Amino acid sequence: MIPLKSNKDLENLRVSGKILAHVMGKLQDLIDVGIATSEIDNLAEKLIRKEGAIPAFKGYKGFPASVCISINEEIVHGIPGPRKLKEGDIVSIDLGVNLGGYFTDAAITVSVGRADPKTRKLIQVAKDSLSAGIKQAAVGKHLTDISYSIQNFVERHGFSVVRQFVGHGIGVNLHEEPEIPNFGQAHQGPVLKSGMVLAIEPMVNMGTWESSILENGWTAVTGDGLPSAHFEHTVAVTENGPEILTK
Ligand code: MG
Repeated sequence: MIPLKSNKDLENLRVSGKILAHVMGKLQDLIDVGIATSEIDNLAEKLIRKEGAIPAFKGYKGFPASVCISINEEIVHGIPGPRKLKEGDIVSIDLGVNLGGYFTDAAITVSVGRADPKTRKLIQVAKDSLSAGIKQAAVGKHLTDISYSIQNFVERHGFSVVRQFVGHGIGVNLHEEPEIPNFGQAHQGPVLKSGMVLAIEPMVNMGTWESSILENGWTAVTGDGLPSAHFEHTVAVTENGPEILTK
């Protein structure tokens, strides 16, 4: 069963999402050559707590930081540390906010200075594939209409979608039913209803869709070492269409 949120829940999730969007904007401003990923993490935690919220990832299944920061061939779940950003790197920031038990989750990928044209295209296609997926988060659509539209968009542009990680329901827990793959046939799975809240998060690779996990037990990397981009929003399915809570 996919849990449905009440109007009151949605009110709280909007506030949680607003905090997340605010913090994400500040983190994006910090991205520059020479910044250590731990500095981004420290600022994220400080800003989230200042708003009276909790970094949702910190301690989640033992994750040691407040944000996941994944660079270049790292897909997701990169752990912040002393590594400094370099010109031409691409950086994914994945952030979760828990405001009094209301969870939102979002991710962006940005380049440090100027990335090469193909990498910039990868970022744009990943971003636009999220928009394509969000459009399908409408009452009466099937869950996998989201999946199909993301995969179709990405592959049309010559890139691939990660299979190992998927989007998820969210709201009163960080991860809820259902799983939302970024690939597959259209018109499958449950019919979307008003009150569902979904974290839609395409991970798009320049080369192979295959991935593996580093020895730290967390960080996922591409099978061929080529870069990967990740975008995510928390989206409510409403009678008025998809509502992005983390914008
Ligand atoms: Mg997520």
